[in-house]
Parts: sequence; C-alpha cells; structure tokens
Amino acid sequence: MSDKNSIRARAVINEQYNIESLDDDFRTFLGADGTHRLTYYVHPNDIERLDDAVYTATMDKETVVALRMVNGEKVYRWVLAVIKSYAGSEDGSRGGGLLRIELQDVSIYNEEIDSIESKYDRYMEYFSLMEQLMFSYDVNSGKLRIFMMGSHQQINFYNGTLENWKQSKLANGEVDGKSLNIFEQLCEDIRTGADSFEHELNMCVMEANNKMEWCLIKGKTIKAINGKRHVIATMSLVNAVSDASSNSMLSGTKDAGTDMLNKRAITSYVQRILDDKPNYPVTIAIIDIDNFKDVNDKYGHMVGDEIIRNVADVVKEAVEGKGVAGRIGGDEMMIMLEDFETEETIRTVLRTIRNNVSWLYNSREDRPHVTCSIGAASYPDDASNYDELFNVADKMLYLAKEKGRNRYIIYHNDMHGDYLHGTGKARTDEYLLYKHKKLRTINSIVNLYSAKGSEALPECAQKTILAFGLDSILLYEKNAPEDWSRYTIYGENVPQQACLFMERDNYIADFTDEGVRPIDNICFFERKARTAFEEFSGIGVCQAVQVLVKEYEGKQRVISFNRNTQLKKWSDSDIMQLAILGNIFGMGYKND
Ligand code: GH3
Ligand code: MG
Repeated sequence: MSDKNSIRARAVINEQYNIESLDDDFRTFLGADGTHRLTYYVHPNDIERLDDAVYTATMDKETVVALRMVNGEKVYRWVLAVIKSYAGSEDGSRGGGLLRIELQDVSIYNEEIDSIESKYDRYMEYFSLMEQLMFSYDVNSGKLRIFMMGSHQQINFYNGTLENWKQSKLANGEVDGKSLNIFEQLCEDIRTGADSFEHELNMCVMEANNKMEWCLIKGKTIKAINGKRHVIATMSLVNAVSDASSNSMLSGTKDAGTDMLNKRAITSYVQRILDDKPNYPVTIAIIDIDNFKDVNDKYGHMVGDEIIRNVADVVKEAVEGKGVAGRIGGDEMMIMLEDFETEETIRTVLRTIRNNVSWLYNSREDRPHVTCSIGAASYPDDASNYDELFNVADKMLYLAKEKGRNRYIIYHNDMHGDYLHGTGKARTDEYLLYKHKKLRTINSIVNLYSAKGSEALPECAQKTILAFGLDSILLYEKNAPEDWSRYTIYGENVPQQACLFMERDNYIADFTDEGVRPIDNICFFERKARTAFEEFSGIGVCQAVQVLVKEYEGKQRVISFNRNTQLKKWSDSDIMQLAILGNIFGMGYKND
C-alpha cells in the first residue's frame, strides 16, 4: 500500500458546502483548486448520505461516512470522510457553522480485500476437488471438528470433543478389531498434538453408509499466532483401486450436477442435528425454480442443466458460512441455516437467493428470465421433528407458488396457521397482505375512477391509505402567486388554511422532472426549508410522497400522501405508484 493512498486530506467547509480552506493533500486528491462546492466532487447517489452526515456533524457529533468522490483523474474513488464541527474561533466556540472534513481514500483496501478473497476462494475450490475429510483439533480445549469442504460450503460431520468421538466410534463398533491399536495411537497423537503423524487403519468413515474402509490419516500440529497448538489432518481412502465408483469417500453424499449435498446426505445431516441437539434453532428452506418445465421446453435440457448449476451456485454462495445446501429434486434445493440470531438473518439469505437468481441472466438475450420460489420453516418453533419441519416448509413453498411465484415465505403461525391446517387459503387479512395487493389496488382505483369519475374518490382514497400504510392525503392548491390553500382529501381533518412553503426555499424546483418529491424524514427540511418543516411538523407528518399534478390544466396542485410515523424509506415502486395515484387525485378532486 503506497503512502499516497493512506494520506488523510483535510478541509474546512461551511454548511452550504463551500470549501473555505483545504490542505495540500486535499488539493492533490481533487486535482483542482477546490473552487467548486464540495457536493460538486461527490457522486450524486451519495449526496443524501453526505447531507445526513453534515446534519449530524452540525449537532456537534463527529460522524464518519463512506462516499464516492471524483479525483483529479475524473475517477470516482471510495473515501471515508470524518466530519465534525470546526472550532474556528479563539475561544473554542463553533466557528460560525464551519465543519472540518478529513478524507481517506479506501479504494486501496477494497483491492487488497478482493485479492485476498479471490485467493481464499481458489484454495477452497481446490479443497472441494480433493474430497477428503478434514480434521481440526484444538489441543487446549479438546475440541474436535471433522468436516468436508464443498464448493462454497463447509459441512461438519462431527463437532464435539475428541474423547466423545473416540468413545462413540468404539462403542458402535466402527473400528475394525485389527486396527484398534492404531486407532488408539491416532487418538493419542491428536490429543497430545504430535508434530506429525500418519496412520492407516480400517474403520467406518461415514456413519451414513456403515461400511468399513481402509483409510489414511495424515496430520501435523501447527502453532497459531496466539501460541495455541492446533492439530490439522486429512483422511483419504486407500483401498479403492479396483472399484472406481467408490474411490471417493464422499461419492455417496454429493450431487454430481451441482456439487451440492445430495438428498440423502442433506436429509440425514439435518435429521442428525435435530436428534443431537434438541431445541437448537434450525431453519430449513426449500427452493424451487419457477416454471422450469417451460424453460426446458423452450431452451432445451442443456440450457436447463446450466440454469440448475447457476441457481445452485447462487444458493451455495448465499448460504456460505451460515449453513449447508443440497439438491433434493430436479429443480428443487434445500438449505439449512443454523446458529442464527434473528429472523432478519434468515430473511437476508432468502432475499439474496431470490434476487440473485432473478439477476442471473439479466443481461443475456439468449437466456430466459429465471425466478424461484422459497418456503421456509424453523425448528423447534414450527415443528417437533424433521418430517413435520419439511412439511411446513413445503407448504410455504406451495403458498409462494400460489401467490404468483418469485417470492419467499417464512412460516408464521398467525399468518399461515389456517393454510397449514387444511383450510387451504391463507388468511387474506387486509393489512398482512396489503403489500402484495398494491398493484391490484392501483388497477381497481383506475377502473373505479374511469367508471365513476370524482364520485369514486373517497373510496379510492381509502384503498390507497390501506395499501400504502398512509395516515392522510392532502391537497395544496395555488390560487394566485403567494396564495396557496390546503385541503384534506382523506384522514383527520386539518384546518383549511393558507400555506406558503411551496413558494419558499425553491421548494417546487426540487420535485423530479416527473413531478414527484419523496420525503423520507422531515428533519431534512429543518435547516434547508424552515417553512416546510413547520408545515409538516405542525400537522404531525413524518414522511410523505408529494406529487405535482401535471395533467391538471387549472390551478397548480400538489397532492401529499402522508405518514404520521417514521417508517423506512419509500421504495422506488411506492414512489412510482403514488405518482400515478397523485395525478388521479389531483385531477379528480373538486372543491369548486
Ligand atoms: P413450478 O413453478 O410450479 O415449480 O413449475 P415447474 O415447471 O418448475 O414445475 P416442477 O418444479 O414441478 O417441474 C420441474 C421440472 O424440472 C420437471 C422436469 O422436466 C425438469 N427437470 C428435473 N430435473 C432436471 C434436470 O436435471 N435437468 C433439466 N434440464 N430439467 C430437469
Ligand atoms: Mg419448479
């Protein structure tokens, strides 16, 4: 890493982002004299984050934000910016709204991390080709782990103490009588952390196939940085020269097409965890490619096979480090996630799978758009044994298919209990399912409005409120310059009064070309558009999407869809859909 890249460049800016002073490093980074405002150098998509950070810094809180900034070569680089208020005056009081900003170029770290990650991935792929069992033993704690490396997954076959492993092998007769002495020696070498060892013995490797096989175990002891000793070893088969089909101890567990576990292996793996650790939280999810028969019909089986492999890669990558994945049918896969902390972790994995599958062939004209549906359930909350757990997840998969595919559904007793217990349909509670109904709501509003005209507006407004989780819909109308009125279309009545914020602080100019303005948090206006801030806080609005009604030929109108609680940011689809509805309400509303 060169010094040039670890430089910290410093500047002082004011709240309008003018650069008041800058040091040589800052100037070198910009490759310019810094005559533009700071925002000129920041990537447009990062301006909002910068705004937030500057806002926090003006509250006298030091804040760190990652931004893309354009450098002297006109290339965007990721920088970490530390922003804090600047004590400009002698007595240490704040220097008239000045802020100090310190940049560190971090793109260099990304390159290093990428290179380490790609090396790591490559080694893992080597391991997965070798198909050996790995032993890892901590001499200090007595913990032994026996695992296999697959592509993007590590599958534990044993995770416990060396002593318990030894006792269970002996008690179950999994070591051939003639190899008992060697087995004892092996365990002793592992336990004491022998410098290196090599033993050949006849024993049962995989509990699942219950077959004695000659295997070679080679190991050595390494010293970790913290001085602790660690035994690592590999186990491979040595007797299989005459029988090519079984020359890998793992051949019975892997699915050849996808390098995932096969159905038997993943099933027994999950079953064993449920048996060994009662009440240990485990989630399984079943993933099925949507309309795969059509893909085969249209593109042929070769393309079909390629799609299965690519979907399998997406699944393995999403699960890496969090659990294991297997193929349980033609276009059906199963994953098991263990040791997670919150449902959000599960959601993140499932969302990643769903999104990455649907992005697979995003830029290929010669491939279909592939999507998948996912059903998930958790032990011990939703089921008391493996069969029940699989059944619940499978039902959720069907529900996902029924609801239109390309989605994941995690079982929740309050939402899906009725469906699971045979009544067939999930509770179509207006609120629980409103998300899936937005498009349908819009269609029905357009239909209602075109059939009944403005008479339908109260009904349309009520549907909108429900579908988008709103509290009120207001209309702002311009009668003449400096003369705006405010009306309630839906929600608790606010007094009809004159409002001037639309004509202050360039408010209207900030609507997009399409005439929309999403407001994720009204605090944004506290400094920048004081009258707007007073308007919204005065009537209890926290978030809004505002639409400048374009199609209306009469007076200028703005429709404001409001929420009185602070929820997450408006999604792009919400903004787009409300823009359409805003035009309908704006055209149809009659107050004269
Ligand atoms: P749905 O959205 O309801 O899942 O519809 P679908 O067409 O995907 O239906 P389903 O999952 O029941 O069918 C899976 C199809 O996958 C059936 C079979 O023709 C095809 N298939 C199964 N294994 C393979 C395989 O290894 N390669 C290919 N190319 N196709 C396979
Ligand atoms: Mg399918």
